[in-house]
Amino acid sequence: MDYKAAFKNAVDQVRKEGRYRVFADLKRHRGAFPRATWTTDDGAERDVVVWCSNDYLGQGQNPVVLDAMHAAIDANGSGSGGTRNISGTTHHHVELERELADLHRKEAALLFTSGYVANEAALSTLQKILPGLITYSDSLNHASMISGIRNGGGVRHIFRHNDLEHLEELLAAAPIDAPKLVAFESVYSMDGDIADLAATAALARRYNAITYLDEVHAVGLYGERGAGVAERDGVMDQIDIIEGTLGKAFGVMGGYIAGDADMVDAIRSFASGFIFTTSLPPALTAGAVASVRWLKNHNEVRVTHQERAATLKAMMKEAGLPVMPSVSHIVPVLVGDPVHCKMVSDMLLSDHGIYVQPINYPTVPRGTERLRFTPTPFHTDDMMRDLVSALEKLWAHCNIARMGGVAA
Ligand code: PMP
Repeated sequence: MDYKAAFKNAVDQVRKEGRYRVFADLKRHRGAFPRATWTTDDGAERDVVVWCSNDYLGQGQNPVVLDAMHAAIDANGSGSGGTRNISGTTHHHVELERELADLHRKEAALLFTSGYVANEAALSTLQKILPGLITYSDSLNHASMISGIRNGGGVRHIFRHNDLEHLEELLAAAPIDAPKLVAFESVYSMDGDIADLAATAALARRYNAITYLDEVHAVGLYGERGAGVAERDGVMDQIDIIEGTLGKAFGVMGGYIAGDADMVDAIRSFASGFIFTTSLPPALTAGAVASVRWLKNHNEVRVTHQERAATLKAMMKEAGLPVMPSVSHIVPVLVGDPVHCKMVSDMLLSDHGIYVQPINYPTVPRGTERLRFTPTPFHTDDMMRDLVSALEKLWAHCNIARMGGVAA
């Protein structure tokens, strides 16, 4: 086999479809978030405003978080030095798991190296621990959940996105005493819609199913203490397993699950993705503790965040841009094809100093390619005006319909 040609052909195919991924080379500057410096391919440096960071609240630059990380490096050194079992459990790891359990008002929490690993490890392991477990998965669940559910090897059913009637139909078709798990998200990150947690939890209970909720795009951002949509909706005690990340609103890195102590102990004891890998560096866990604690006590940041998102949506709608109907902090604008999506993204960066990645298949279905803006409390009205004005120009230049999709 001509391996080189095979690799090249695979990438050429992606390129042909207009979804070849190019990563912008950005330099950040302490205190300047969301501004950054972009280094172009020919080495020039340009100031840009970042509009697609999942550091939703700018916690990655919060001095409280940075000070905790510096102190932890000074005390502990850089790496953790092993798996959790082999010397990789520092006091910061223990403290963080306690803090996360408390955040979600659960008995216990367990850390993983990322939210992706948390989903993959927990969902596959649950099927191994609970023989005959049937998993019900929302059709728009994240790739990490899909991977975990598939790798568990058990029976799985996909229910139409947020369609509880469909979920009920599928639940009702299985024996009432069969073990079941409903896996879903609160905030869906590409559309910005939010599941009905209370109704989903009640339905699951009626059919003896446990619930697994991915709150990756909600922890830190919703609820009085930042515990997510389950806290906002007053249903934390009705969700069995909450999964979150430390890499988005908390501004650091890592993933976790929280729930009943016996469940957490079982995952801790059986999940390969937890057991056989070096644990997170102590500086990250220390930074995460500081971030979670700080956000617990600063609800005003969440209020500002929501206000910023609402303002941007209103400005875009007034300009006639096809903002998708998000009810969260995520502001997706429909383009409708990968080539124009990439073109607009490239021109925003090169001509307007605005950095936003194109979102293409397979992240979203073909024909729904979009730009996904994530305003933070640090995005000013002036930045929003610049963004909307640039988008208006590019929409006209590329002949993209105001309602989304390329004009005929
Ligand atoms: N779940 C969802 C819904 C996500 O969007 C992501 C990442 N984008 C993850 C899990 C994985 O989290 P992490 O980035 O911490 O690996």
